[in-house]
Amino acid sequence: MTDLTEANERLAQINKSRLDSHGIFAVNIMGTPGSGKTSLLELTLDDLKDRYKIAVIEGDLATSLDAERLKKHGSEVLQINTQGMCHLDANLINKALDRFDLSKLEIIFIENIGNLVCPAFFDLGVHRNVVIVSAPEGDDKPIKYPVMFRETDLFIINKTDLLPYLEVDVGRMKRDAKVINPKIGILELSCKTGDGVQDWLGWVEESMAQAEPRSN
Ligand code: MG
Ligand code: ZN
Repeated sequence: MTDLTEANERLAQINKSRLDSHGIFAVNIMGTPGSGKTSLLELTLDDLKDRYKIAVIEGDLATSLDAERLKKHGSEVLQINTQGMCHLDANLINKALDRFDLSKLEIIFIENIGNLVCPAFFDLGVHRNVVIVSAPEGDDKPIKYPVMFRETDLFIINKTDLLPYLEVDVGRMKRDAKVINPKIGILELSCKTGDGVQDWLGWVEESMAQAEPRSN
């Protein structure tokens, strides 16, 4: 391991303890630009915000466009601009946690920078890692970006409403992902039609129960 990844790993452990000591469940959402990370978060906040105290850490290279979108959905949103850095790391998350009153939160969603490569190399200290790929991006993503799929708990295939118009083999995507990571969960959904979104919300609540962070 390089010094950089060792330092990141230490901070990730600190983040994890901070989250657990406040009973907060945290999910890191990764995926390509345009795969639907922000759209899925909008639907998620609409559904869960009345039951849980939620905050979002929104990572972006330059703009606050996605944070502005999410602020309309009734949860606290913290924007991190990485000034061109193509991933979030444990240090950025550690600093972001300083900006919240953690005693008032139950779930933190993190939207990572749109990129299937380096976000997978930086453990943030969260309870679950998710990757979203949308159907129009093609069925070769798992096999081309194996590290991302190896490090991830859940693979979401979004924009399934477009499948009738595409030559995309969803079965191949799922098989390849399972070969790379036999434990990976897989969900197909469409943020546009809402198909499959309930399965995702169920996954969040189930994973939250399994993570059983200590309560305050
Ligand atoms: Mg986004
Ligand atoms: Zn990067």
